[in-house]
Amino acid sequence: MSYSNTTQLLSNNQPTPEHQLSQKLYAEVVVNIPLDRIFHYSVPSHLRDRLSPGMRVRAPFGNKIITGFCVGFTDTPFSDKIKDIISIVDKAPLAGNVMLKITRWIASYYHCGWGEAINAVIPPVARTRTKEKGALFVVHTHKISELNAEMLSQIKIRAPKQARALEILKEHAGEISAKELMHISGCMMQGLRQLEKKGFVTFKTKSLDELDIPCDSNLLQKHLMFTDEQQSAFDTITKKLLQTRPGVVLLQGVTGSGKTEIYLQTITKVVEQGRSVIFLVPEISLTSQTIRRIKARFDRVAILHSHLLGTFHYSQWNDIREGNVDIVIGARSAIFAPLKNVGLIIIDEEHENTFKQENSPRYNARDVSIVRATHENALVILGTATPSLESYYHAYLGDYEKVGLSKRIGGRQLPPVEIVDMAEEARKRRGYHIISQKLEYYTKQSLARGEQVILFLNRRGFAPYIHCKRCGFVLKCKRCDIPMTFHRKLNTTLCHYCRAEEHPPESCPDCLASNINYRGFGTEKIEDEIMARFPDYKIVRMDSDSMRVRDAHEKALTAFERGEFQILLGTQMIAKGLDFPNVTLVGVISADTILNLPDFRASERTFQLISQVAGRTGRGSKGGRVVVQSFNPRHYSITYAASHDYEGFAKKELEYRKQLNYPPYGKLARIVFRSAQEDKAKEKAFLVAEKLKDMVKSNGKQLDILGPSPAPLTKINDQFRWHLLLKSIEEKSIHDALHSINDVLRPSKGVQTMVDVDPYMML
Ligand code: ADP
Ligand code: ZN
Repeated sequence: MSYSNTTQLLSNNQPTPEHQLSQKLYAEVVVNIPLDRIFHYSVPSHLRDRLSPGMRVRAPFGNKIITGFCVGFTDTPFSDKIKDIISIVDKAPLAGNVMLKITRWIASYYHCGWGEAINAVIPPVARTRTKEKGALFVVHTHKISELNAEMLSQIKIRAPKQARALEILKEHAGEISAKELMHISGCMMQGLRQLEKKGFVTFKTKSLDELDIPCDSNLLQKHLMFTDEQQSAFDTITKKLLQTRPGVVLLQGVTGSGKTEIYLQTITKVVEQGRSVIFLVPEISLTSQTIRRIKARFDRVAILHSHLLGTFHYSQWNDIREGNVDIVIGARSAIFAPLKNVGLIIIDEEHENTFKQENSPRYNARDVSIVRATHENALVILGTATPSLESYYHAYLGDYEKVGLSKRIGGRQLPPVEIVDMAEEARKRRGYHIISQKLEYYTKQSLARGEQVILFLNRRGFAPYIHCKRCGFVLKCKRCDIPMTFHRKLNTTLCHYCRAEEHPPESCPDCLASNINYRGFGTEKIEDEIMARFPDYKIVRMDSDSMRVRDAHEKALTAFERGEFQILLGTQMIAKGLDFPNVTLVGVISADTILNLPDFRASERTFQLISQVAGRTGRGSKGGRVVVQSFNPRHYSITYAASHDYEGFAKKELEYRKQLNYPPYGKLARIVFRSAQEDKAKEKAFLVAEKLKDMVKSNGKQLDILGPSPAPLTKINDQFRWHLLLKSIEEKSIHDALHSINDVLRPSKGVQTMVDVDPYMML
């Protein structure tokens, strides 16, 4: 999305401006359906004074009564058979003027309903208005630590969900919110009360203050003296801040170059001007270091993301709305924080794909931030060590102003990266080993010196698939056509897509042979292997299996930081933002897991990943090194990452993208068709493709239609999937094409369609 295009789209789609002039005779209302339509209702005279845009109303809809959002007023309704609004739900608007404009833009850009967009940006807690003053927590008693496997399996027979809750409590030290425990264990409140009776747990209520992230007074509260490089970046940023339309700054700084310090001092400037700040991070649970740094320097800070406990969530949201907050830190949905007078939006690690929402509306918070900033005349700072090629290209074109930090603070060097050719290694050692000799050697050295090691593998579980050596059978999920993953700790096989669970077979279900084989390796298996090789050291595993409970990440990281563990093993969730001076070695077990994905961003993501993990070491005075294991050791995304050469990578990758008209040169949209019957999904995909081809023929637009073809994930949750990819060098062609098939895309005859503009998920 280019800056100018965004502005252009906006001006075409302003909410009806008449509402200031109108007599409020007729209200424009949108409802939460995947249709981009506005409905008109007449406003009874007794409601006219109270109704304003952004409030919810109840109104007849067909033969039902629905709740919709009033988005404006008109004097000229579509027809004369207009029905009355029944009532007004809210005392004050839930969506302010800016939010109405942003959601309008989202609806037209991402091709969803305006009502859907508004619905998605107002958190459910804002609508229900909880009155609770705190949240209920479940606390262990000593009886839980005395539980052994046998006792647990006894309980499992009579009360499996209670047993599950106990298992979770056992693996998670400390208290868990009752709501969360119920959610992950499936055990209801009644069951938890039973556990209380049996003496396993007690309950306690935490107040709002206790739910907040504490401020860490050990952290530096004063601003640091900038280095020359930082100062010059900061000067450019402050100059921008003074402009009426400040636009976008791309702050490209290598890991550890002091970007966060620049954010902090820019925030100070903006807050001093009486304006507010939104600070978006890719994943809130991994950002507690940054949050604590911000809280150490500023008072009126709120945290906003969708995993907050209801009570606390509402209090934060309401505080923001009432103007008691200057800075909102949050994950992608925080871009919709009801802050007034936003002067600055910071997107940290702007290249991360967690800013993209993967269900409707499929917005990218980075792009929405630019739209919001345009409306509020705010500055956007996109910060990263490895800009997305989209942002890099915008800077190259001059749409964004680029500032760079090329050096780490304190003259520290970026760590040397060594690539191990795993094919070569297998030849030498006559067999495949998960950990190369080199990685093992360096690990031993670091550990012997009392330093710490991070090992990275982008795949959880024990073995990715279960396979029969005799007949070739692979155990697959019955609903998803995806291999089941074996998880040894839970002694089960899990589908990573629909979470179906199946008992691991002892013999081949197909040919009954007994030599069923567990192939490949996941984090769990590596954990075993490492424990076997380094029995004297403690290892902590961080992935979404071991980290199901909300604050589990933070606990594990703090324990690692304190040195209670020497090795941290995890999936990509540990690649971001961590800063541990005692980590002197980072190992990437396999750089190939992402590289081999059928996705045009596979190289970019591999490059980013290696650069990010390399950023986790060499931050202290002890230096550090990185070992990357791969079967594609000469792939440019790996070699450029190893030499810390972003520019080299970007140039090469942009050449490929240009040849194929992929973003940032071309624009993409993906349409997925899902149905319980494969024929129907396929039929509809072909129908839509035909319509599009006819359209292209008649108006001569430049549009490539790729497919239809079965999606790489051909079946998920009993739904067969076909897809189409639209590609064009003109943004408008994509939008026109999607508009022209609007009618065909509605759900019909058991086929669901999903439109994704600027897609990240290609599976
Ligand atoms: P980045 O966000 O680019 O990874 P940080 O802002 O976290 O970098 O800075 C890395 C480290 O250097 C932090 O420990 C930070 O406190 C320190 N630091 C940043 N700027 C300065 C400075 N001007 N003088 C001294 N130390 C600094
Ligand atoms: Zn499944």
